[in-house]
Amino acid sequence: MHGFAYRHGSLHCEDVNLQTLAEEHGTPLYVYSANTIRDHYRRLDQALGSIDHEVAYAVKANSNLSVLRLLAEEDAGFDIVSGGELFRVIKAGGNPAKCTFAGVGKTRAEIEYALKQGIYSFNVESEEELRYLNEVAGDLGVIAPAAVRVNPNVDAKTHKYISTGKSENKFGVDFDLITDVYARAAKELANVKLRGLQMHIGSQLTSIKPFIEAVEKVAPLAIHLKNIHGIEFWSIGGGIGIVYHDSLKSGDPQWWASKSEDERPLTIAEYGEALVPRLQNLGLKILLEPGRYIVGNAGVLLTRCLYEKHGTAKTFKVVDAGMNDLIRPALYEGHHEIEPVKQPGEARRKVDVVGPICESGDFFCQDRELADFQPGEVVALMSAGAYGFVMASNYNSRPLPAEILVDGSAARVIRQRQTLDDIIAGEV
Ligand SMILES: *Cc1c(COP(=O)(O)O)cnc(C)c1O
Repeated sequence: MHGFAYRHGSLHCEDVNLQTLAEEHGTPLYVYSANTIRDHYRRLDQALGSIDHEVAYAVKANSNLSVLRLLAEEDAGFDIVSGGELFRVIKAGGNPAKCTFAGVGKTRAEIEYALKQGIYSFNVESEEELRYLNEVAGDLGVIAPAAVRVNPNVDAKTHKYISTGKSENKFGVDFDLITDVYARAAKELANVKLRGLQMHIGSQLTSIKPFIEAVEKVAPLAIHLKNIHGIEFWSIGGGIGIVYHDSLKSGDPQWWASKSEDERPLTIAEYGEALVPRLQNLGLKILLEPGRYIVGNAGVLLTRCLYEKHGTAKTFKVVDAGMNDLIRPALYEGHHEIEPVKQPGEARRKVDVVGPICESGDFFCQDRELADFQPGEVVALMSAGAYGFVMASNYNSRPLPAEILVDGSAARVIRQRQTLDDIIAGEV
């Protein structure tokens, strides 16, 4: 569910008309719904409410300071993947003691920074990294809290670029090798405290099955590590999928209610009901690392149609946003619904919606039946709150778009649009 819907003939975010925002702030423009972000966080927090748990928001999905501040106010933890993300969390008022640090390639500078800030755990992805962490902690004369990421070799059944829990992925330590890694670490690494166990099998999972499979496979290992090494937490990762294809409709609770059990996408209630019984008697604190689920459907990218171009084979709607603003279609074959901000009539056309970038991969849809819209009109690329702005670049020397946070009837610029001078700053 989310805060985007047509009202009085125009698409709104909460109580704010997106047409007005596009006029005032220009396009391309990212717009986020604060109450959707809060609602998603609270739903997940409540679904796990009966067990000792913490929701650590995966910062990489959307790292705007105001988004992080919103979640810090909800008392969220944060899962970070770089020193830069830790810096952002601290600037936004987040608590470093609630931060976990993931990623396969942490540098000395990042490890030192995170140690000095007192993060909750380094989630390490190899024995080599664990030994390096021990060395850096030793040099600083401190003990580094750590968890090792286990690769459970479970197929998440998602796009290959966002599947992470199979043996052939670069992530984590093989399930069969991990007990020995903990045993050697306990014996040899005096500056590491083994605090937990971590896993994350992939992103945009729309079925509960891979989650259950991974939890059932890894639970005995978690218990073993608790008994032998006294670990206190198990992070089961993020990866909860969102609705992309019926994005606008899924804002309405009725849409969810109208679906039969088999056709309904994964809900948070289902996630909690399936996993809580399997997690509640382990005597471990359970961490979750959702990114996309919290912010994905809480954001849209507004773009204005510039031209309608008629080729011999196709009709192209050329818009002012490009793959540099939202790369998911080009990178992951990601699907974003495209909805005119002015409520459309019945007319539908099969078109390609393309950006201005000099790449054939620069499209938002191909051969898709869309509600018709004309040059000058603004359309919303739905479900753009996660892995949207954070992956934007200056490719083709295009300024990064502005970002707006809507909260009820208030709309605030939470990132200014870049200027051309901003783009060349630092160059000689
Ligand atoms: C990216 C990532 C997440 C978040 O994934 P989502 O699919 O956005 O929920 C969580 N944990 C780790 C380790 C990640 O790399």
